[in-house]
Amino acid sequence: MFKVEDIRKDFPILSRKVNGKPLVYFDNAATSQTPKQVIDTMVDYYSNFNANIHRGVHTLSQEATDLYEQARYKIQAHFNAKFSHEIIFTSGTTHGINLVANGFSSLLKKGDEIIVSALEHHSNIVPWQMLCERTGALLKVIPMNQEGELVMDAFDKLLSENTKLVFVNHVSNALGTVNPIEYIIEKAHQVGAAVLIDGAQSSPHIKPDVQKLDVDFYVVSAHKMCGPTGVGMLYGKEEWLKKLPPYQGGGEMIAEVTFEKTTYADLPHKFEAGTPNIAGGIVFGAALDYMNGIGFDTIAAYEHELLEYATEKLLQIDGLKIYGTSEHKTSVISFNLEGIHPYDVGTILDKLGIAVRTGHHCAQPIMDYYKIPGTVRASLAFYNTKAEIDTLFEGVKKAKMMLS
Ligand code: PMP
Repeated sequence: MFKVEDIRKDFPILSRKVNGKPLVYFDNAATSQTPKQVIDTMVDYYSNFNANIHRGVHTLSQEATDLYEQARYKIQAHFNAKFSHEIIFTSGTTHGINLVANGFSSLLKKGDEIIVSALEHHSNIVPWQMLCERTGALLKVIPMNQEGELVMDAFDKLLSENTKLVFVNHVSNALGTVNPIEYIIEKAHQVGAAVLIDGAQSSPHIKPDVQKLDVDFYVVSAHKMCGPTGVGMLYGKEEWLKKLPPYQGGGEMIAEVTFEKTTYADLPHKFEAGTPNIAGGIVFGAALDYMNGIGFDTIAAYEHELLEYATEKLLQIDGLKIYGTSEHKTSVISFNLEGIHPYDVGTILDKLGIAVRTGHHCAQPIMDYYKIPGTVRASLAFYNTKAEIDTLFEGVKKAKMMLS
């Protein structure tokens, strides 16, 4: 049975005060909080296993290697990849996207087309623009509508035999919209295009099955799913990872080095140059264990309940507008108070101990579409409560009174 009060005891930070008030943490889409089971794994690693991996003959190195590779298996199982070597450790979503974008430099030519969506985070726009500059490929954009959904008819029309790549986030960080990636993947494959899905915002709420989705690449960051910062994973289909050239050169990623010619290591090491974030990888595995221990269905059902409660409550405030009103949403509420800058609302909420994000959320094209400078974003996680939403409601009312 899911009992939020018990879950909250796992998160030490949730009992601290901010500005003299109990912390209400609603900035989960920026980064999630860390349960003690995950923190303990980090402490245990540095207390008992810290060593460099893969090359060491000594016991400590072998134990650290085993823990790191076990984490890769955990990630493989979680995302249901066919092979563990299809899981590449990265420093996060941004790194995974850049690795793929860089690899495609040698596979694209002038006139090829890349499709992204209007709902993207900057990290899923800028690397593709840079790729277009390098190759002469063209960037096309799937438009959005007022509800914050992608317009699928327009997507169908953008697809052609020139389309080589399609990049869409599974869930929008600014609005919470869950995009119809199954449809996008199927249609893109019909014209022979590869698909990369940015799972930074879906992975804390949804357990994707990469084989069932038949997706070519899927990228996530551990810090959005109760894990540490500085680590993430890129899933790539074996055939694609074999085709792409290495991203960075260095130790670990080679088979043999001479001054005449270097040969590269097999997957996954070909893409893992240098000493990796060993502790981060191991702790990422512990974070997956923690979330799977609760269960993603349980998490999604509870968060949906929170989303409905918060939406209904906030809409009682006159002049409050919510952006992103799709039926298919994770627990993100992006809103503004009429005539009031989101930054000012965020500052007052902070004084009340409530952590929300304000601004464009690294998704400026969405803000341009709505003709607003930004929003206040409350992003809810499974350790939040309805009582915290009541605190937010009172806080927003107070901010409105003070700023009107
Ligand atoms: N894509 C989306 C949709 C995101 O929300 C984020 C993080 N805000 C990123 C990419 C980038 O993730 P990271 O900064 O962990 O690399």
